[in-house]
Amino acid sequence: MGKPTGFLEYERVENTVADPSARIRNFKEFRKMLPEAERMQQAARCMNCGVPFCQSALELKGRVTGCPLHNLIPEWNDEIWRGHDRFGLARLLQTNPFPEFTGRVCPALCEKACINGMQGDSVTVHENELWLIEHAFAEGWIKPLPPARRSGKSVAIIGSGPAGLACADALNRRGHSVTVYERDDAIGGLLMYGIPNMKIDKSVLRRRQELMEAEGVRFITGIEVGRDIGAEEMKQNFDAVALCTGAREARKLSAEGTDVVKDGIWYAVDFLKDVTKEVLTKQDGTEQGGTDPEVAQSGPCGMRDLVSGRQVVILGGGDTGNDCIGSVIRLGAASVRELEMMPEPPEKRRENNPWPEWPDVKKTDYGVEEATWVFGQDPRQYESTVKAVHGDDAGKLTAVTIVRVSMQNGKITEVPGTEETVPCDLLIIAAGFTGCEKELPEQFGVALTGRGRTATEAGSMQTSVPGIFTAGDMHRGPSLVVWAIAEGKACAREIDAYLMGYTEMI
Ligand SMILES: Cc1cc2nc3c(=O)[nH]c(=O)nc-3n(C[C@H](O)[C@H](O)[C@H](O)COP(=O)(O)OP(=O)(O)OC[C@H]3O[C@@H](n4cnc5c(N)ncnc54)[C@H](O)[C@@H]3O)c2cc1C
Ligand code: SF4
Repeated sequence: MGKPTGFLEYERVENTVADPSARIRNFKEFRKMLPEAERMQQAARCMNCGVPFCQSALELKGRVTGCPLHNLIPEWNDEIWRGHDRFGLARLLQTNPFPEFTGRVCPALCEKACINGMQGDSVTVHENELWLIEHAFAEGWIKPLPPARRSGKSVAIIGSGPAGLACADALNRRGHSVTVYERDDAIGGLLMYGIPNMKIDKSVLRRRQELMEAEGVRFITGIEVGRDIGAEEMKQNFDAVALCTGAREARKLSAEGTDVVKDGIWYAVDFLKDVTKEVLTKQDGTEQGGTDPEVAQSGPCGMRDLVSGRQVVILGGGDTGNDCIGSVIRLGAASVRELEMMPEPPEKRRENNPWPEWPDVKKTDYGVEEATWVFGQDPRQYESTVKAVHGDDAGKLTAVTIVRVSMQNGKITEVPGTEETVPCDLLIIAAGFTGCEKELPEQFGVALTGRGRTATEAGSMQTSVPGIFTAGDMHRGPSLVVWAIAEGKACAREIDAYLMGYTEMI
């Protein structure tokens, strides 16, 4: 186990974070990892409690707490503390194929269940994980490991988000020949063209792609399956197919005036994708290769023109809304207001929400912090939504009417007389997703649930069509990167059993 008295001796210390005044000047990652000696102390805070809820993925009152990948957290914390980093790495990679993704963007379900968090501060599991994998890359320990033998079976993965990548990685290691189809010009799904560069530098995805290619995975980008290649052709050409195309059907804005006012209203993922593309293009003249994207604030730039000096309203207070705030701040918005329909959560756990349940507490993420620094006030407005949009004669957005809402018998209802019309020339809709895009599953003849997800038996990844499997947001509904990876691995296991008649994959 780790240092028995570590949690008593050392305080939780997090990675250093650049000040908002510095970090809003560019789209670079802004967290700096602790030096090795301090990281070892942080790992020593893991007491190996004997009942590691951190790796449990336990569902309590409908919410999951603990790591969905069942990462062997106490084991690798112990190895970090002892300076056995290579052993720690081996234990980490046993369950998590992409710690460099989760170490950057995972909301750390593990830390919410850490027993140190019951009375004090949980172990910095998330940052320990990132340190271990980045340390391994820096030391040159991560090398391509192609399979010794090929099975002669071929699998197509449609969609290269974390679910598709995890499925591809596991099947390729098993010896199957894997081809990943991606309609975008670069792999990664929402890790590439959703989550902004300051949260995950896009070179991280390029690095993983190069490794996977060296191990034998084939990536075909710029091809939309269902349009450029038909489902029948895919079925004929491959022994199995995995559908991992995400939950990309954005929830529509149902406000008055949206039939007339079109200019100035964006869906969040379209907006974030264009921002990332531009950041990367500006950096080195190619769309994919940027490793050190500079700010779009210098020189002419389409997205900057779109945002600079604008009064921005963002509809939706989740991760996506926060990423939009961080992006518009970097692009010079004149003001930003974020509307959230739900009530303001408490700062601390309520009594009926004890450890190790997922804590329903207020989260102040980087974008909100930055907006507060720039404008001197918190941009969040709770229990509010957009009731109407207003525009000029050319259909260009000029204002929005905001109304307060409240929860009545489980339904969101407007509070009469609370309407307020505010100037707004850029409205970004970050109100979530209603399910997957239907065309592709329809072409494959795959059944969907009433909630717009691919239908499977509980706990299975096999769709209604033999040989066609599914994973990630498309199957689970809009979720998290860590869940997409867990689903991708589970999907690979079922495909292996389908192809071979048995499986030993974990
Ligand atoms: C703005 C934003 C921020 C987020 N931030 C976080 C975060 O901080 N932490 C976190 O854990 N999660 C976050 N999430 C959620 C997370 O990104 C998703 O849960 C995860 O990416 C889902 O992975 P996936 O592989 O299922 O789908 P996706 O990542 O959506 O990938 C699906 C891929 O399929 C491709 N595709 C679709 N149709 C076709 C087709 N017909 N042919 C070929 N390719 C196709 C798409 O282009 C895409 O690349 C965020 C989501 C958003 C929108
Ligand atoms: S993947 Fe997420 S939940 Fe699992 S150990 Fe890493 S940070 Fe924690």
